[in-house]
Amino acid sequence: MFVSIVRKNIPNQYEDCGNYFALDKIYSIDNGDKEVCDNCLGNYYQCGDCNDYFSDTTTVGDIEICDDCLRIKYIKCDDCEEYIRKDYVISVEEDKGVCKDCFQEKYSLVVTGKENE
Ligand SMILES: [Zn+2]
Ligand SMILES: [Zn+2]
Ligand SMILES: [Zn+2]
Repeated sequence: MFVSIVRKNIPNQYEDCGNYFALDKIYSIDNGDKEVCDNCLGNYYQCGDCNDYFSDTTTVGDIEICDDCLRIKYIKCDDCEEYIRKDYVISVEEDKGVCKDCFQEKYSLVVTGKENE
């Protein structure tokens, strides 16, 4: 006679509310550190860049951005210190990068190249 020991099938619970998993309604938070149901999802922020959910994000303009996206894709404007997407940085002067608002407000295009006309 063979006896095999199997682990009891204990249902998983959502971490926040303690409800049992409905497999089609699991949302992963903080890159999978945590899983919550759609009711609890409202307590978290959705990153406006990668669309994943996080417990902690940084507000950039009117969207929330997660730490990873912020580090990889965003940079601070050298003038107003607000975060801007790296694609949107406007290079000015030597090695400064500013946001569109600062650019419009504080800089103007000067055409150089023609001498003493
Ligand atoms: Zn829940
Ligand atoms: Zn993100
Ligand atoms: Zn700026």
